Amino acid sequence: MFQKYDVIVVGAGHAGCEAAHAAAKMGSKVLLCTMNMNTIAQMSCNPAMGGVAKGQIVREIDALGGMSGIISDRSMIQFRMLNRSKGPAMWSPRTQNDRMRFAEEWRMALEQTPNVDFWQEMVTGILVKDGKVRGVRTGIGIEIESEAVVLTNGTFLNGIIHIGEKQFGGGRTGEAAAKGITEQLVQLGFEAGRMKTGTPPRVDGRSLDYSKMEEQLGDENPEKFSYLDITQPLQNQKSCWITYTNKEVHQTLETGFDRSPMFNGRIQGLGPRYCPSIEDKINRFAERERHQIFVEPEGWNTVEIYVNGFSTSLPEDVQYKALRQIPGFENAKMFRPGYAIEYDFFPPTQLHLTLETQLVENLYFAGQINGTTGYEEAASQGLIAGINASLKVQEKDPFLLQRSDAYIGVLIDDLINKGTEEPYRMFTSRAEFRLLLRQDNADLRLTEKGYQIGLAEEERMQAMQDKKSKTAHLINDLKQKKWTPEEINPSLEALGTATIQEKTTIEKLLKRPQIGIQDLKAIHSEFDQYLSKYSKEVLEQAEIQIKYESYLEKEQQMVQKLSNMENFRIPHKFDYLAITALSAEGRQKLNKIRPETLGQASRISGVSPADLSILTVYLGK
Ligand code: FAD
Repeated sequence: MFQKYDVIVVGAGHAGCEAAHAAAKMGSKVLLCTMNMNTIAQMSCNPAMGGVAKGQIVREIDALGGMSGIISDRSMIQFRMLNRSKGPAMWSPRTQNDRMRFAEEWRMALEQTPNVDFWQEMVTGILVKDGKVRGVRTGIGIEIESEAVVLTNGTFLNGIIHIGEKQFGGGRTGEAAAKGITEQLVQLGFEAGRMKTGTPPRVDGRSLDYSKMEEQLGDENPEKFSYLDITQPLQNQKSCWITYTNKEVHQTLETGFDRSPMFNGRIQGLGPRYCPSIEDKINRFAERERHQIFVEPEGWNTVEIYVNGFSTSLPEDVQYKALRQIPGFENAKMFRPGYAIEYDFFPPTQLHLTLETQLVENLYFAGQINGTTGYEEAASQGLIAGINASLKVQEKDPFLLQRSDAYIGVLIDDLINKGTEEPYRMFTSRAEFRLLLRQDNADLRLTEKGYQIGLAEEERMQAMQDKKSKTAHLINDLKQKKWTPEEINPSLEALGTATIQEKTTIEKLLKRPQIGIQDLKAIHSEFDQYLSKYSKEVLEQAEIQIKYESYLEKEQQMVQKLSNMENFRIPHKFDYLAITALSAEGRQKLNKIRPETLGQASRISGVSPADLSILTVYLGK
């Protein structure tokens, strides 16, 4: 019934969709096997993509040739560039999305990708022979063969849903938990753990009083995620709204604490620290009299509202009563209660940087199964796993991103070397080179890499090269061209910035904090015409590169220094246990993680600088 596939992807969440698309686009025959084809690319939690650090990841996925950016653009109902008032390293695109359209767009994109077949069923095990994966086994006992398997089971592995004292098996509400895989992997020698996450109640937008809330509009000039020019920015946007909890809400919630699975010990797994439940917030920050609630529409054609900030697993009657004490929610009708879910994950220190498992060859893990949280984190891992599974099957070199290349590089490096005990999400603070890893330059950093492996298309490559050469041309002009005091001093005075005493290059003027590239038009009339030749992206790029030149150079030098260590490869079979001079902890961690480079070894927690020097000597560096 089935042909032998190159790659079988298990699960069609954010990780699975990217993995299947990437592998197929790179020429592999792919089977996407998922429990329910009606929930492909379901947004389990909030209907939004991007945000701080996550928006950078979506742009990186797009720059490499992945789909999450395009799908987000096609389904957005609002766009905001967060942190515009801060430096460009912090600018972070975020879209509010139509949940149903997001899923529909992903499904259409996959159906239109040649080389992707679908099968709707639960996978209950993998086929393994001689330490290598050979395919999967499904719930009704079908064995499907493949060269590689990517597991992206999300929150489904032995998932248990909690609402107050009620608990039942499930991967999300209304969907069954996945059985069999954890038990088999543990038998094969994998270590498994337990985590939890939660989601807020959904309400009927017709029952809310928005006059009691603050309106949060989308950007005046909305942008988009994708560097490809295939979707238009939004003409109309939907607003979000802000309201707050209060003392009464907190008191009502507290009446349910004795029935809370969080507090009565029923939930064992650790939850996301930075996305706590409302009961966790009022318990941990008892001094705070109110917490912010974002009231987010779920789409263009639905009245359903997502109550962001009110994630809870308290009993549904307590949720309902407390909700109705929030300003604007006095008559709220609830569509679905919030809940918490516990699920199995596999500590990611058991993986290679390609996301292939160390124990079973050609088996890859991506997404929440690796202990991460968030669509963007999942999607980016799916992309990397799909790429590497495809490359491995085609007997090509692996595809790795360094910490200085991308947030995706930081994410995977952190997971593999440090592991994670609580759901891992990305922050800008996790990246040491965040001035280099901006949302505006992900194409300049990554598109060529995506193109070389056959993922990013010609059109992307050309658009990137065009942006690059036009930016270089503009910067060069700004460095050459000089203005005299007579020409521009009156305009500088009008702008409230110091006048010049001698002929000055435009580049030098642009380095002043008070002058942006668009101000040049007001400073000298000849520039009105000149700048209109360039796109907004090129102008922004030139401005950033000029204004932050010295900081960018410093980070670049740091990257260079580190890359010497980063590029020094350690043989895969290197025998750490034979080096008795290493500390016991260092030896054990190195042996477990088996770093691929000296740079990676240096970041493993428990490997000391002394261990590193010893290793350097043994490797003959
Ligand atoms: P998922 O999106 O979960 O997709 C898994 C897919 O695998 C599904 O399609 C499923 O049907 C399929 N599948 C699973 N097992 C099998 C099997 N054996 N056989 C066949 N198919 C299988 N993230 C946040 O950032 N913040 C939050 O507050 C947050 N809250 C959440 C609350 C809840 C209740 C849930 C469920 C998730 C929450 N998330 C949150 C997490 C977010 O949804 C995930 O991080 C993201 O969806 C993970 O993507 P994934 O591709 O790894 O898995």
